[in-house]
Amino acid sequence: MNIFTDGNHLNIYIVLGSLLLLSVIVFIRYLAFSSLYHLVFFNWLKTYFSHRFLHAKPWKKKQLRKEVIWSLVSGIIFALFIIFTFILQIEGYTAVYTKVEEFGWFYLIGSIFLVLFVQDTYYYWMHRWMHLPSVYKYCHLVHHKSVHTSVFTSFSFHPLETILQAMIIPIIAIFIPLHLYAIIAIISLMTLSATVNHAGVEIYPSGTFGKWFKKWVIGATHHDAHHKKFNHNYGLYFTFWDRLMKTELDE
Ligand SMILES: [Zn+2]
Ligand SMILES: [Zn+2]
Repeated sequence: MNIFTDGNHLNIYIVLGSLLLLSVIVFIRYLAFSSLYHLVFFNWLKTYFSHRFLHAKPWKKKQLRKEVIWSLVSGIIFALFIIFTFILQIEGYTAVYTKVEEFGWFYLIGSIFLVLFVQDTYYYWMHRWMHLPSVYKYCHLVHHKSVHTSVFTSFSFHPLETILQAMIIPIIAIFIPLHLYAIIAIISLMTLSATVNHAGVEIYPSGTFGKWFKKWVIGATHHDAHHKKFNHNYGLYFTFWDRLMKTELDE
């Protein structure tokens, strides 16, 4: 049964109500995690990792306020695409599955990495396209207004960029079989990665493992360099596209 329809017509009240509820959930997810990182974890980082801060000056309140407002708009757009995907699922068009046994645990864990790879590839090329001068000012400038990035920059995009980012949600849901556990893991990793990469402090360990991890997985230093130098370090989660296409900035 499709809860969004009355017979063959969309029930506009249910759709709008769900949109409002989901927008709040998506936005609160961002705000709660960013605030937690900024206010609680950050003070702890300041005590023990003050030498790893990437900026000397404190953030301007005006910048943080703007980032939160743009993020609210991003929350509404993401909610729209999630509802659209949910309708597709009810109508039987997605590959979402409910029983782990259908594909097994090995596939379930593999599907998380597969989605991260697909999203990373899509983002890398879209990101390079958004840096073309004719596209940049209409699409990507809002995100780059934050040169001294903060945790709140992590969801701060122009609506056109948010649409481009969210478009991949229904496409992935249609083509890649995903279990709810994998979906929760992907959303958690997305939130974690976006927050860590914009926080303005490097938290990856400095030992051998840390160096190896930093070489392949994007962190604060890598993405901070993108906000400062613009034409390098376009990746989302992993560095391999930047390394392959020679767009990675040498540290
Ligand atoms: Zn950019
Ligand atoms: Zn960024």
